[in-house]
Amino acid sequence: MSRVYNFNPGPSALPLPVLETVQRELLDYRGTGISVMEMSHRSPQFEQINGEAESLVLENAGLSPDDYRVLFLQGGASLQFSMIPMNFLAPEAVADYVVTGSFAEKAHKEAKKIGRVHVAATTKESNYSTIPRQAELQFSDNPAYVHITSNNTIYGIQWPYIPDCGDAPLVVDMSSDILSRELDMSRFDLVYAGAQKNMGPSGVTVVIIRKSFLEKERSDIPSAMLSYKVHGEADSLYNTPCTFGIYIIWLIMQWIKEMGGVKVLGAINKQKAELIYGAIDASNGFYRGHAVKEARSGMNITFRLPDAALEKKFADEATKAEMIGLKGHRSVGGIRASIYNAMPLKGCQALVSFMDEFARRNG
Ligand SMILES: *Cc1c(COP(=O)(O)O)cnc(C)c1O
Repeated sequence: MSRVYNFNPGPSALPLPVLETVQRELLDYRGTGISVMEMSHRSPQFEQINGEAESLVLENAGLSPDDYRVLFLQGGASLQFSMIPMNFLAPEAVADYVVTGSFAEKAHKEAKKIGRVHVAATTKESNYSTIPRQAELQFSDNPAYVHITSNNTIYGIQWPYIPDCGDAPLVVDMSSDILSRELDMSRFDLVYAGAQKNMGPSGVTVVIIRKSFLEKERSDIPSAMLSYKVHGEADSLYNTPCTFGIYIIWLIMQWIKEMGGVKVLGAINKQKAELIYGAIDASNGFYRGHAVKEARSGMNITFRLPDAALEKKFADEATKAEMIGLKGHRSVGGIRASIYNAMPLKGCQALVSFMDEFARRNG
C-alpha cells in the first residue's frame, strides 16, 4: 500500500486513523455482523452514531446543546444557498450578502430568486484577493440575516475576523474551514458546511443552527425536505440520510477530540500554512501568492509561478513526487494547496522542500 500527500480541494484527505477504523469495521460493525452501510437508519446502533455525532460536533465547536442543533442534510452546501432564504427571508424583508468569492456569488444569486437581497460588500474588483474591513460593510436596515463565506476555497482568502452586524442573525458558509481554527462559534446563528473538506466524505451537509433562530422559520416551505424544523424534529432522520457519511463524521469528531480539540488542531494548521506562505515569501518573486497578506487563507493556499508552462510542470512533477491535487481552480489558474485538518504537517514540509528545490532548478 502506498498513500500519497493529497492536496485536493474537496473531496479531500481524511485522517488515516479514521480510514483504518472504517476498514476494520467495514464488514462487521462492532459485532452486528453487518456494515454500517447495510444498517437501518432506525436501528439503535445508527441512532447512537447519529446522536453522538451531533453532540461531538457541538463539543468540538464549543457550543451548548441547550442553544444549538446540528443537522445532517443532503444536497451539499449548494442546496443551503436556496434553503436559507426559503426558510428565513420573508417577503417584506431584505437579506444582506457579503460577496467574497464564487461560492458567495452563487449563494447571493440563489437568494435573489427567493426574495430581496442587498450586497453589503464585494471584493470582486480585487479578483477576490481581499476581505472587506468592518468599516466597508454597508448593511441594510434590519436585515433578515447577514450571509458571509468564512473561507473562499477557490481564491484562497479567509475572514481574519468575525464581522459585527449588530442584532442581525449571522449566517456563514464554513464549508472549507469549519473546525479548523479557534473561533467564537456562538457569534453565528446558522453555520453550514459540505462535509467533504474538513469533516468527512461528500454526501452530507452539516448545519449548526441556533435554536432560537430555527424558531423564526417561515411556515410556507414548499417541501418538508427543505425545512430545517422538520429535520430538527426528526433528529436528521426524516428521510434516509447519508448514514455512512454521518458515521465517518462521527469518527472524525472523535479524532479531533482525541487530538486535543480545535485549539490544538488550529495551532498545527497555523504552523502548516505559515510554512508554505514562508516558502512563497522567501522565493524572491518566483512564487506569487494570490491573496493579500491580511486575507490569506489557512486552508487553501493559492499562488502563481512565472508562467503557465512552469505551473503545469510544477503540478506534474509534484505528482511524480507523490503530492497530488495541486493544480489551481480553472478560474484562478496557478497552484492551490488545500491543507485541511487531515493534511499532516509532514505533507506541508514535503511540499515546501519540493517548492524550494523546484524554484532553484527553474528560477
Ligand atoms: C465546496 C464549497 C461549496 C459547495 O459545496 P457542495 O457540497 O459541493 O455543494 C460551497 N461553499 C464553499 C465555501 C465551498 O468550499
